[in-house]
Amino acid sequence: DLDTQGWQVLDRAHYLHPFTDHAGLRQTGSRVAVRGEGIYVWDTEGKRIIDGLSGLGCVNIGYGRRELVTAAAEQMLELSYCQSFFKTTHRTAVRLAEKLTSMLPGHLNHVFFQSSGSEANETATRLARRYWDLEGKPGKKLFIARELAYHGSTHMAASLSGIPPMHYAGGDIPLSNVHHIRTAYQYRHGAGMDAAEFGVVAAGWLEEKILELGADNVAAFIAEPAQSAGGALCPPETYWPEIQRICRKYDVLLIADEVVMGFGRTGKWFGLYKYGIEPDIMQLGKGITSGYLPLSATVIGDRVADTLIDKGGEWAHGYTYSGHPTCCAVALENIRILDEEKIIENADATLVPLFKAGIESFADHPLIGDARCVGLMGGLEIVKDKKTRESYAYEAHIGDHCSAEALKRGLAFRANGDTMSLMPPLITTPDQLAEIFAIAREALDATAKHFGVTA
Ligand code: PMP
Repeated sequence: DLDTQGWQVLDRAHYLHPFTDHAGLRQTGSRVAVRGEGIYVWDTEGKRIIDGLSGLGCVNIGYGRRELVTAAAEQMLELSYCQSFFKTTHRTAVRLAEKLTSMLPGHLNHVFFQSSGSEANETATRLARRYWDLEGKPGKKLFIARELAYHGSTHMAASLSGIPPMHYAGGDIPLSNVHHIRTAYQYRHGAGMDAAEFGVVAAGWLEEKILELGADNVAAFIAEPAQSAGGALCPPETYWPEIQRICRKYDVLLIADEVVMGFGRTGKWFGLYKYGIEPDIMQLGKGITSGYLPLSATVIGDRVADTLIDKGGEWAHGYTYSGHPTCCAVALENIRILDEEKIIENADATLVPLFKAGIESFADHPLIGDARCVGLMGGLEIVKDKKTRESYAYEAHIGDHCSAEALKRGLAFRANGDTMSLMPPLITTPDQLAEIFAIAREALDATAKHFGVTA
């Protein structure tokens, strides 16, 4: 009975969970959430869970804000749908496009809407190909992405993702036009180097790959400003300026996937302000509506847009829900709340330093080999041996164990492989943050005990 049981054993349920070990689920069941408010979600047993992940980088302003409901309802009554295929647009989408471009650097002047981050990445990569075709360089077909990245679940977005299980899933993934380089993961790839030196070395992997593939064949490089996938992999300050220089040198478009970083995750409105990135195309999603409705935006720089407008004919690309009025209205209201309540600025000033101190306090935990963060995204990497940095065997599922221990204590604390990730909502209070870290520590202590690890 979905109304009364907190844990359901959804054995051959009608609803297939995304990203789930469906065989495993038959043993463990699935929590059924019924209500959310602020940073909390309640299940059918009345158990309160702190969403330490902001629903994976979505729910930045927290659950249950009535203003967003009102904005959605009013828009639905005024104009519930707009047929964009019939050369019709509506005021709310135009206003949102204007708002977004006013918040972004000068050259990012054009917006294309979709419903999801995966679709935004499809748009970005199709657009990059289209650009090079129109520029008379149809050979520039290849995309370079990074290992451990996640860019979505459609064929191209899954191909861009550098997560091995997605690539073993069959379906010709990764598509043959996608190549991967190592990501800026200093703990694993830059031991013994100082951060500045490592940033330059890691960016150099892009140059090596471009030279290997031939610059005339490479359309674009795509990356998150800081990589949420793979466990909060935060680049050193020297990384992005080098990446930028290399893309310019070889005339390779730079695509920034800000689906998670956008709208405050790094402590700045967009990751590109944190790292000084000037992308040709950028993707926004999740936080654009704080997860209240599905919407994503592909923001296109003048260089690509001018070519599309001046030289392009019809570009056969669009979705039934491109620029959906209700989603755009909710996005505008979400941005108004972020702006007027100074949620991002306040989080950056007060919460980010506390978060950094909290994450770093785990460095001496017997299970933690690396404690890293940027803004309100943190990763605690569990290792078997702190000296050699050896990981636990995959089969040990130590991260999943820790995640389950945290959930028992009322915290959503995600295992990203062996790295425990935290991405609390931007509206988390200092007291709530202290509670998050206290539960995280209890979960790690219980995990250490279970695996026989002592200080
Ligand atoms: N890019 C990044 C960086 C993501 O984290 C995600 C989703 N977790 C996506 C793209 C895909 O977005 P969606 O799930 O909305 O398709």
